[in-house]
Amino acid sequence: MERYDIAIIGTGPAGLSAAITAKLRNKTILLIGKKALSSKIKKASLIQNYPGLPNVTGKKLQKAFLHHLEKMDISVTEDQVNTVYAMGTYFAIQGHHAQYEASSVIVAAGLFAARPYPGELEYLGNGVSYCATCDAALYKGKSAIIVSSEKDGEEEAAFLAQTADKVSYLPLYQETYTPEHNIELIHQTPTAIERKDGRMRLLTVEGFLEADGIFLLREQVAPSQLVPGLSMNGNHVEADRQMQTNIKGLFACGDITGTPYQYVKAAGEGNVAALSAVAYLAKAEQT
Ligand SMILES: Cc1cc2nc3c(=O)[nH]c(=O)nc-3n(C[C@H](O)[C@H](O)[C@H](O)COP(=O)(O)OP(=O)(O)OC[C@H]3O[C@@H](n4cnc5c(N)ncnc54)[C@H](O)[C@@H]3O)c2cc1C
Repeated sequence: MERYDIAIIGTGPAGLSAAITAKLRNKTILLIGKKALSSKIKKASLIQNYPGLPNVTGKKLQKAFLHHLEKMDISVTEDQVNTVYAMGTYFAIQGHHAQYEASSVIVAAGLFAARPYPGELEYLGNGVSYCATCDAALYKGKSAIIVSSEKDGEEEAAFLAQTADKVSYLPLYQETYTPEHNIELIHQTPTAIERKDGRMRLLTVEGFLEADGIFLLREQVAPSQLVPGLSMNGNHVEADRQMQTNIKGLFACGDITGTPYQYVKAAGEGNVAALSAVAYLAKAEQT
């Protein structure tokens, strides 16, 4: 397996800036996220505080970022990272679609705003999962519920339905979805998760649903789940001015490290994180 110098998680301004700086420093990089970039970029109707681009629309800024990546021959690996494991001298990165290795990691995953459902963390890894494609094999002949906040969940549901007997699919977005025969489309609002008589139960405003397992598919994973052992300050990752976290060789930047939530702050921190990762790699090489 190729071991990259720096893996960067997230394709918002922080991750993109980190990737550009790391590439300029001749490091091998793995930029993981969405090829269409952070949805927060194109959502902005008018941005007035990005230097050099007065009154730019989010869509124009997105186009400019994509153009910059293309010019620098930086590609995005379309995947969502589930967990980053610190292995001592390197990091093992578990994505939905593949596993990766890198000598250092920059977490630029944006602000994690979702609140876990009551019971979610208690049953995580034991009835609750964040990745249907990773755990599909465990559901042979069983039933599962998928709660998805994104259209991408439909692909995961189709994959899971090849193994599972029955999949109940709850979209938390506006959908136009015609699912396979063993996927039932359900419109209910989840409130909590519990286990009853050995079965997982998704409580909803309307009642409850039961299955052998529950998948919660969101654009993001809580930082503390993403990197076990990561030091947090509320829902922000703790990082010093070099963007170094409490885990050696793992840096964080952008909205995930705290306010102000701004493009330039994110891009600036991405730059610092990449330079710090470069310095970390140079030091590691000497020892
Ligand atoms: C409507 C709107 C308007 C705004 N207007 C302005 C403005 O005018 N000026 C300004 O300065 N700021 C503005 N902002 C704020 C700005 O968008 C954010 O501060 C900025 O996008 C933060 O960048 P980031 O790279 O830290 O995170 P984000 O842009 O949130 O990017 C994080 C990326 O990481 C990805 N990701 C998360 N978890 C994972 C994972 N596990 N695996 C892979 N990828 C992952 C996410 O999908 C996302 O693409 C606005 C925000 C919104 C929503």
